Amino acid sequence: MTDDQLDDHSAPSDQPPRSGQRAADDTVEHHETGISRAGFVAIVGKPNVGKSTLLNTILGVKVAPITSKPQTTRRGVRGIYSSEQRQLVFVDTPGYHRGVTRLDGAMNRAVRESVIDVEAVLWVVDLRRPPSDEDRDVARLLKGLEPGTRVWLIGNKVDAAKYPDEALSLYRDLAPGAERVISISALNDPDDVYALRDDLLELLPESPFYFPEDVRSDQPREVWAAELIRESVMTHLRQELPYAVAVVVDEWREGDEAGGEPLYLHAEIWVEKQGHRPIVLGRGGAMIKEIGRTARKQLEIFLQQRVYLDLEVIVRRAWRDDRDALRELGYEA
Ligand code: GDP
Ligand code: MG
Repeated sequence: MTDDQLDDHSAPSDQPPRSGQRAADDTVEHHETGISRAGFVAIVGKPNVGKSTLLNTILGVKVAPITSKPQTTRRGVRGIYSSEQRQLVFVDTPGYHRGVTRLDGAMNRAVRESVIDVEAVLWVVDLRRPPSDEDRDVARLLKGLEPGTRVWLIGNKVDAAKYPDEALSLYRDLAPGAERVISISALNDPDDVYALRDDLLELLPESPFYFPEDVRSDQPREVWAAELIRESVMTHLRQELPYAVAVVVDEWREGDEAGGEPLYLHAEIWVEKQGHRPIVLGRGGAMIKEIGRTARKQLEIFLQQRVYLDLEVIVRRAWRDDRDALRELGYEA
């Protein structure tokens, strides 16, 4: 990976070679036919149904953070898939969910905005369970879309579902306008996911690419790194601190490979209450050390360089209802 790509604000890519790069004559042929196609696809669904997993399988690289806890995807993270002359731009939305804080409002707004002007909306549901109120909320959101918006219902986790057909038909009743209804296992059956991706490629209208073809995400690198760190916090703390944690990477200083100087990152971990600080720090700082170790390893794998990760835990009361704080986190609050 070159420095250029990082400066590009793209998420680091460990992408397998694209088929478009196969052979020089291929390229020549494409220049002669010269038609590129591109468009947007929204992924909606309540938390924890597997939206991030689906996106990551489509892209073949980890872009959106995944944990087994709901609501880790806080912003519309776009993943970009480019192959030959086609480009799919995905919007992986935060789960559309019920809530009262300002953050919930900002998230729901982000979801509504993400389903404007798309070639298709993928509504991902969890086939292990029948529809819940949250699913009905999503169904209502879909009813409010521009007429003619193409909706595909994606029944996920078919590998773990006891009654997948029954569940799917209950979801189908909530989305009578769905053009297609598909069962997949985003986690365990990539071939189904690649077939879905190919079908999406067929939908694309003629258009120039929206992003350079080697860019996989439009997240700033600081946001991407903050999400990795937040994922590590969530993994290590499990039940103890459900959602009241935010991470901001406020310093990114390039290292010097030759001089043995690692990349330096400083991140603030925001908690809402004084009492949460010792939980994140752990006894004698053991917890924050583990959080840092896990996040640093991930960062080093993706960035392919040594990283010095400096974490600071800060009490920021009621940040979820604080406009300035939300703006700092990148929301239009
Ligand atoms: P999101 O909140 O909708 O983005 O959901 P995630 O992609 O973060 O996935 C939530 C959880 O479901 C994670 O623990 C995933 O490993 C799991 N998961 C996702 N897809 C599948 C699947 O196809 N089968 C099974 N068994 N688990 C899945
Ligand atoms: Mg997610």
